Amino acid sequence: MMGRYFRMVLAGVLVMPLMISTCGAQTKEAPPKKVAIRAGRLIDGKSDTPIANALILIEGDKIVAVTPGGAAPAGVEVIDLSKATVLPGLVDTHTHLLLNGDITADDYDTQLLKESIPYRAVLGARNARIALDHGFTTMRDLETEGAMYADVDIKTAIANGEVPGPRMQVATRAMTPTGMYPLLGYSWELKVPTGVQYVDGVDGARKAVREQVMFGADWIKYYSDRHYHFEADGVLHSMVNFTDEEAKAIVEETHRLGKKVAAHAIGSDGIAAALRAGVDSIEHGDGLTDASIDELVKKGVYWVPTITVGAYVAPGRGGDWTKMVDLEKAAFQKALKKGVKIAMGTDAGGFDWKGLNQAKEFEYYVEYGMTPMQAIRSGTVVPADLLGWSDKVGTIEAGKWADLVATSGDPLKDITELQRVKFVMKGGAVYKNEGK
Ligand SMILES: [Zn+2]
Repeated sequence: MMGRYFRMVLAGVLVMPLMISTCGAQTKEAPPKKVAIRAGRLIDGKSDTPIANALILIEGDKIVAVTPGGAAPAGVEVIDLSKATVLPGLVDTHTHLLLNGDITADDYDTQLLKESIPYRAVLGARNARIALDHGFTTMRDLETEGAMYADVDIKTAIANGEVPGPRMQVATRAMTPTGMYPLLGYSWELKVPTGVQYVDGVDGARKAVREQVMFGADWIKYYSDRHYHFEADGVLHSMVNFTDEEAKAIVEETHRLGKKVAAHAIGSDGIAAALRAGVDSIEHGDGLTDASIDELVKKGVYWVPTITVGAYVAPGRGGDWTKMVDLEKAAFQKALKKGVKIAMGTDAGGFDWKGLNQAKEFEYYVEYGMTPMQAIRSGTVVPADLLGWSDKVGTIEAGKWADLVATSGDPLKDITELQRVKFVMKGGAVYKNEGK
């Protein structure tokens, strides 16, 4: 103990003057670069009506002013998007950068058994670049599917500017009790990897939360249920994974450490259990009932529907999966009417990053009853709030990070325009500019 204390004191003495001199050097650097964007149509994420011919002034990585019309200050570079629609950078609140499609159990097992975690992390960095290229400047990655804490590494590499990608919040390993998540079905003589961290008992739950947060988890994710099936009452039921005491311990400990909890919950029983435990977001939620929808509204819990993945895997999985897509559509329409906070999330990684643009999700939301403006909000300003980043992302206004995208057509007329983003800026840096 003494030795460690001594070293800390020494480090303090040595490091402090260095920090001061670094700060001093920074003040002598050139002032942050100023750029102006001329937007033909601006959907700022706040107003219901687009602003015509808007001027967005950017200094360094932040937006400093947004005005209808007006001229850029002399000498400031202007990016001409006068024929385009500019909107806030998109936010996907449910992704798996470390996964590349798992329609069948074989797809999943192969990745965990035959690909090393370093290899998967390389593909994860590639997937982050694809997401950014598609206009997603912020993502919540909801577990690594057996790749341990590699999401933290990808997040760090992006934040350090080593590889291009969205701003990230990450959930690391996710949790189920022992035996309730793949890989399963292998000989007991083999030690195979597991897609989550197995967690048992109240003390085990608290320890696992502490451990995941120690290694960089911004979110704790747990699997509330499995074995989804319809019963005679027509409701989608499921087997609940954790005891109420365990689930409550996960939520309580996570909140105590200042983090939030996302629960995978597909069947009505899993959804009810997650709501009892006090989670912050329900993931998937196909089996939402009238009662659980009311509870989402009452408790202000977010719903992340991930319709894209459901529609994508249903044909390959067969069984009840197709029925579940229809069920979720009905739940979506009820939830929308009752005012549930719906945050856009796709489960990208559950489908191949290279095969499908995650912005497809917006198309489903409009097909299911949202106005295009509501759909855009569900993928910008609403998730910003879920992530606790309302002061940083989700709208185009002074003080926010300069994260914005542009489409050549009008997404308010054709929501599929969001699948053809032509311009991407993150933190004031242009990552894509395919002309007007
Ligand atoms: Zn997922």
